[in-house]
Amino acid sequence: MFRKGLALKHEVADQLASDYHSALIDQIRGDDYQWQHGRLRLHLATEFGFCYGVDRAVDYAYQTRRRFPDRSIYLTGEIIHNPQVNHRLRAAGIRFLSDPGTDADGLGSNDVVILPAFGVTISMLARLQRQGCTLVDTTCGSVLNVWKNVLQYARDGYTAIIHGKVKHEETQATASQVFQYPGGRSLVVLDRDEADLMCNFIRTGEDATGFTQRFAGAMSPDFDPVRDLQRVGLANQTTMLMSESLAIGEMIRQAMLDRYGAADLDAHYRAFDTICSATQDRQDAVAALLERRDLDIMIVIGGYNSSNTKNLARLAGRRLRTYHIADASCLLSANEIRHRPVDGATTPATPGADETASSNWLPSGTVSVGLTAGASTPDSVVGQVIERLGEFTESDVPE
Ligand code: SF4
Repeated sequence: MFRKGLALKHEVADQLASDYHSALIDQIRGDDYQWQHGRLRLHLATEFGFCYGVDRAVDYAYQTRRRFPDRSIYLTGEIIHNPQVNHRLRAAGIRFLSDPGTDADGLGSNDVVILPAFGVTISMLARLQRQGCTLVDTTCGSVLNVWKNVLQYARDGYTAIIHGKVKHEETQATASQVFQYPGGRSLVVLDRDEADLMCNFIRTGEDATGFTQRFAGAMSPDFDPVRDLQRVGLANQTTMLMSESLAIGEMIRQAMLDRYGAADLDAHYRAFDTICSATQDRQDAVAALLERRDLDIMIVIGGYNSSNTKNLARLAGRRLRTYHIADASCLLSANEIRHRPVDGATTPATPGADETASSNWLPSGTVSVGLTAGASTPDSVVGQVIERLGEFTESDVPE
């Protein structure tokens, strides 16, 4: 198992730079995160794009290809939620076990498997080890920190309540950690509405059957809400909105207070802040951008399945018209844009659709555009978006 890279960092540095670097982004960073071009006034968030965990995971994947040129290399799924990065890895011959027709069944000692930044479940890890695969572990340190807390909950007899998305790989891997202790339990809650249902149950204990039906798929096997919601510890998927996680923590604390009283609170509720610093920095930078700049629109770049990107778009969408786009190809013209509807924002939304199209998205005249990108978006993609924006805003506004 390789956990700290494969000692080929320098050998792959040029390739990584050529695939993901952008000279334009360097220039904009050097110009106080601003770029004027024709009628465009672009304001870039001061923290955006690749986080330390993603940077490291992609670096290790390139090192793996270099170290094992003749062996089959697999990823358990997307290494990060960015289509361009995953496309490049596929082009380098790395296969994805999540692809139709590919699975872990036939893997053996000659195969190399890269574990993604958000980790894998303990059952998947055990299986790959049993099969004798060479493993390259890129699990981010911030995810490992969450696991450490969840393990401690399980060890001490607390159910891990995970604020996250039940189908997200990281949350599945985190929830699986509790199985390392007999009787370990977990429950995933998506948002304040689900937390409210759980808190009502903690207070009243009513309708356990309805509760288990409502949270089917989000609970560990044999979950009994009467037994397993007496002592709980809160953890988060690292990329959730910090404000929402804090609110959910307070809701649970209050419910435990109501049920058991202040003297017994510690015996029934624990919490650790497990939002990673990179996620928090990107959310803070968007908040600062919205506060300090007079923006007409906001563009958020990142994969449509990227949790942290969606949350950046939600944050911005609460304040102004926001377009979550995957890459520069979404900017069809100065009039037409393809984008993912922002949850709860004013953009036109098609329920259930990943992507929609809008017209008249770019205001005429001098236009002030705020821009950020999720933690899995490389500078090269951000640079291409800005260049494309520049094409639409080439001419100066007549005085
Ligand atoms: S978003 Fe945070 S937890 Fe996820 S890979 Fe990046 S630094 Fe690690």
